[in-house]
Amino acid sequence: EFDVLIVGGGPAGAAAAVYAARKGIRTGVLAERFGGQVLDTMSIENYISVVETNGPAFATALEQHVKTYDVDIMNLHRAKGIRREGKKVIVDVDGGAQLKAKSVILATGARWRELNVPGEQDYRNRGVAYCPHCDGPLFKGKDVAVVGGGNSGVEAAIDLAGLVKHVTLIEFGDALRADQVLQNKLRSMPNVTIITQAQTTEVLGDGAKVVGLNYLDRQTQQAKSIKLDGVFVQIGLVPNTEWLKGSDVALSRHGEIEVDVRGATSLTGVFAAGDVTTVPYKQIVIAAGEGAKAALSAFDYLIRSSAE
Ligand code: FAD
Repeated sequence: EFDVLIVGGGPAGAAAAVYAARKGIRTGVLAERFGGQVLDTMSIENYISVVETNGPAFATALEQHVKTYDVDIMNLHRAKGIRREGKKVIVDVDGGAQLKAKSVILATGARWRELNVPGEQDYRNRGVAYCPHCDGPLFKGKDVAVVGGGNSGVEAAIDLAGLVKHVTLIEFGDALRADQVLQNKLRSMPNVTIITQAQTTEVLGDGAKVVGLNYLDRQTQQAKSIKLDGVFVQIGLVPNTEWLKGSDVALSRHGEIEVDVRGATSLTGVFAAGDVTTVPYKQIVIAAGEGAKAALSAFDYLIRSSAE
């Protein structure tokens, strides 16, 4: 039985583990893939005090840091349910095992929705990108496309237009779906082209990097092609909360775990941190900070509830 059981081994989970273990309480981490999304990242240039690193190196450093403490890491295991039983929280694990804890921190992160077209996987991190805050500066002076005309796509296009040479925004539907004020801002920028009714069909590359994109003009049914150096996919970020549906942990309408300013969820003794929560801006430095905060909140909860 754990004092704090952390579900998720990305930056949020790792930070929570370090903060919990430093309180001298029994801490466990259950993770499907320790390291999380950073394992899929090439270059990281915005983690404060680390000028530049790469994803696998960052993930290794996370694990090394956690392992300097007495933390029980259960890697390659997936949580599939959570509930309270008396004073305990029970987490069901794939394969039938059950873990018991006095408090739990949920840090299962999120994943970018993918286009699922040829070329996308081949050129991931070689021109195909998902995070403008992370990878935008790598395309300085270049031509890029943003696929997706919702708020995140239009925000990304505005952000990128200030950094790159030219941005083509590609939207599947007849019209952009972003807030009008964002659309107005985007249309006022000189180096932006907007294409609607366009279905992306392929990301083109030369074997080493992205060189363009094919799309179907849905109005004329004509196949078209654009030359590009990068493609930012902005068709949604999906929180890893499918396993929480039906539990007492309240989710927002986007499926994110609702947390208060201390990281507490609607289920007593259960906290959450990082990309899986309603906290805006999905970034490593933010996830790590929120993980630390959730661990301190869990500790606070433990010292108060043990007095009962
Ligand atoms: P995650 O990193 O998503 O970790 C979630 C953890 O939970 C993983 O260990 C996962 O295996 C585990 N998990 C999920 N479901 C379950 C389950 N049911 N049971 C058990 N474990 C589970 N941010 C930056 O700040 N700078 C960058 O340069 C940057 N570049 C990026 C590039 C790419 C390609 C991507 C995809 C993201 C990038 N990000 C970047 C965003 C950053 O990676 C995330 O904000 C950060 O990893 C979020 O941390 P997290 O701990 O909340 O979640």
